[in-house]
Amino acid sequence: MNNVINYMEIWVKEYMDIILEKEEGCKCDKCKRDVFTLSMNNLKPYYVATPLGEIIAKIESTKQQVETDIIVQVTKAINKVQNSPNHDR
Ligand SMILES: [Zn+2]
Repeated sequence: MNNVINYMEIWVKEYMDIILEKEEGCKCDKCKRDVFTLSMNNLKPYYVATPLGEIIAKIESTKQQVETDIIVQVTKAINKVQNSPNHDR
């Protein structure tokens, strides 16, 4: 089962970095981890076996469909973590 990937993880990390860039506030590993887990728990997993050829096109079209959802959930998670970080300020 080594070749099974949850693409949602890749996308969440990607958008998390983009959105965090624009947001004020803490960007330490602890906060990033909290944002990541929070977002992942609010999004559906998208598992794919080793991507080859036409599967890549399918992955891209799925990404476009879930993009808005990812941005909404990641933004929500960032706001939540920034309002109450899991560490001293
Ligand atoms: Zn932090």
